[in-house]
Amino acid sequence: AQRLFNPIRQFADKFTMFQAGFTAIERISELMNEPIAIRDSQTALSINNQLDVKGINKKNNRGEIRFENVWFGYKPDEYVLKNLDFTIKPGEKVALVGPTGAGKSSIIRLLCRLYEPSQGRILIDGIDIKDITQAELRRYVGVILQESFLFAGDIKRNITLGENYSLAEVQQAAKLTNIDSFIEQLPQGYNTQLRERGTNLSGGQKQLLAFARVAIRNPHVLVLDEATASLDVKTEALIQEALEELLKDRTAIIIAHRLSTIRNVDKILVLKRGELIESGNHEELLEQEGLYASLYKLQMLES
Ligand code: ADP
Repeated sequence: AQRLFNPIRQFADKFTMFQAGFTAIERISELMNEPIAIRDSQTALSINNQLDVKGINKKNNRGEIRFENVWFGYKPDEYVLKNLDFTIKPGEKVALVGPTGAGKSSIIRLLCRLYEPSQGRILIDGIDIKDITQAELRRYVGVILQESFLFAGDIKRNITLGENYSLAEVQQAAKLTNIDSFIEQLPQGYNTQLRERGTNLSGGQKQLLAFARVAIRNPHVLVLDEATASLDVKTEALIQEALEELLKDRTAIIIAHRLSTIRNVDKILVLKRGELIESGNHEELLEQEGLYASLYKLQMLES
């Protein structure tokens, strides 16, 4: 199989994950130093209800993301995203690329509805995310950030985030993400207490636990913020495998810091000062000889 991320060492050390529910979103919000100002609209409905109403097939082809002429600014009239208009198809792996400050994180914050567009709409599977309850949006979109949110508590709880999952479901998620054998050889197994921030785990173990936390929620969309530390070869292989399993059949948006890791994604969106200036796959963008091509050449020279 073609490796999506090559090599995986770029995804490393600390991964933060937030998923499902308010506690998690509060944490991400805390991390980003940003308040949650957005409330559910009174007409917010379950996404399944809305898909029913629209006659959209619920089983297949889930996870389409559409930004429709989206403008956004943290301050009025200071737009950091300008007329973004793109569609990510179900199952597509898409990378966001651009210099620092180009707007990559802002796109993710809007998708998670930490903020709302000043103009335009964001649709998931054809439904404006304003019309989806926030709890449900958190289940739909799984996010893996660079910082680890492991907390003092047992392993099971660090995976379930206190939500109602059975031990069997926890074990299944751990198996899918290659952390099961590590957990099961601990004397206390899934009841093993973790220290605050998971300081009694290795970087790789923390990362795999973070994957398990997303896997159990089975989101249709996965957002990954690539980290840059390195791990030993064996751990890298485990993580690579877990990640491939996690990405299977899901839409994924990857914030890429090193361009060498995204050569095999389906589409690369190149941003500059809030504008989408190029899009295409690696080869297409190299041929265009635009910003992506010059950033790529620069990174090749550096490494
Ligand atoms: P990237 O992720 O590509 O580095 P960001 O989306 O973080 O870019 O930032 C886009 C622009 O928005 C930058 O000019 C940045 O300074 C600004 N910005 C980011 N977060 C905030 C915030 N909380 N308040 C005000 N401006 C912000």
